[in-house]
Amino acid sequence: MSYIEDRAVWFEGQGHWQHIPAADWQDWAWQLKNRLTTVDQLEQYMTLTADEKAGCAFANQKLALAITPYFFNLIDVNDPDCPLRKQMIPRSGEMILSEGENDDSLNEDGHSPVPGLVHRYPDRVLFLVTDRCASYCRYCTRSRLVSNAQDYNFHPEHERALRYIESHPEIRDVLLSGGDPLLLSDKKLEHLLSRLRAIPHVEFIRIGSRIPVFLPQRITPALTDIFKKYGPIWMSIHVNHPKECTVELKAACERLSFAGVPLGNQSVLLKDINDDVEVMKALVHRLLRMRVRPYYLYQMDLITGGAHFKADVRKGLEIIRGLRGHTTGYAVPQFTIDAPGGGGKVPINPDYVESITDDAVTFRNYEGQRFVYPLKSAPKPDPAAPAPIAPGVESIVVH
Ligand code: SF4
Repeated sequence: MSYIEDRAVWFEGQGHWQHIPAADWQDWAWQLKNRLTTVDQLEQYMTLTADEKAGCAFANQKLALAITPYFFNLIDVNDPDCPLRKQMIPRSGEMILSEGENDDSLNEDGHSPVPGLVHRYPDRVLFLVTDRCASYCRYCTRSRLVSNAQDYNFHPEHERALRYIESHPEIRDVLLSGGDPLLLSDKKLEHLLSRLRAIPHVEFIRIGSRIPVFLPQRITPALTDIFKKYGPIWMSIHVNHPKECTVELKAACERLSFAGVPLGNQSVLLKDINDDVEVMKALVHRLLRMRVRPYYLYQMDLITGGAHFKADVRKGLEIIRGLRGHTTGYAVPQFTIDAPGGGGKVPINPDYVESITDDAVTFRNYEGQRFVYPLKSAPKPDPAAPAPIAPGVESIVVH
C-alpha cells in the first residue's frame, strides 16, 4: 500500500467527463443514470485485470456493480492496487466462502419484528428503508439484500415499521439505513422524517449514508431544508480512505453542517486499503477539516466472500495506538467489532493499563512511559503524629 498524503491537494472537477455540461455533472439524477455498471463501460476507461473480470462475471449473483462517474474519477485506472478500485470493482475472492462467513453475519433477520426493521437493542431500532445505493461497496455487510442481486426480494414495509415504532415507547433512537436512505425521493424522505418526528418517544433520529461520498450532488438545498425542518437529524457518513475526501465531498459536508446536521464518520478496516497508521491519520485529519468527527473504525463483518478484505485486528489496534496521543483527540475513532451472530458492537482498545490495585493504577502513556496514579487520598493514619495539615494552616479544630 503506498499513499503519499499531500494536505493541500483535494480532487476536484469532472475528470474523464470533461465534455459533459457542468449542469448535468452537478445533477444527481444524471450521475445515477450514467453509473458504470458493466465490464464494457468500465473498459472504456481502464483495463481490468483477469481477477477483476472474473469478479465482474459473478457480480450479478452477489452484489450489483455500479459506480457513479463522480466516484469513478477518484479511482487510479493505472493502478490495480488503488484503494478505491479495490472497494468498488469486484474480484474473484467474492466467490470464495471462508470459515465463519455467512450472508447475515450479524443475524439482523433474526432480530426483525417487521421486514426492514431490526430491533436488537432495547431503546433503538435500525430502519432499513431501501435496498438501493448510489454505488456498491464490495465488502458490504448487507450484500445479501442490497441491490437484490441475490433475489432476496427485500421489500421494506415503511408503514408497518412506523406503526411498530409508534407502539413501542421504549424506542427512543431510530437509525435510517439500507441501502442508502438518501436515494429516496425528497417526498418519501420527508414523509418518513415527519412521521418519526411526530412520535413523542423518538428523541433521536439519525441517518447512515454513503451518498455524500458517492454522490455529493444529492445534498441539495431542498434536501437540507428537510433536515432543518425535522432536525436535529444526525448523520454518519462512510469514508474509508483520504482519497475519497474531495472538494465536492467537503462542500456537501458543509451544506449538511450548516443545516444543523451533526456529522460522524464510520470507516471499515480493509486489508491493503486503509489498514495503515499513516493512511488512517491522513483520513481522520481530512475528516476534521470537513467538519466530520471520526466515530467508528469497524473490524469487517464476516460476510460471504469477504475474506480478501479482512484485515488483522492487531492492525486496528496499531492504528488506534498510532493516533491516540499522537494527534487531536477528536480525530480518534472507536475501534469496534460487531459481534458475529448479533451480539452487538464491542469496543476493542489498546491496553494502556498495567495494573490496578486498591492503592493505585499503573499505566503507560502514548510514548510508552510508565505513570502511577494513587487511588488512596486519605492521609495515612499515624497515632504518634498529628495528621498532616496544609502549609499556612496552624491547626484544625473539629466540632
Ligand atoms: S453504501 Fe453502504 S449499504 Fe450501500 S453497498 Fe456500500 S456499505 Fe453497503
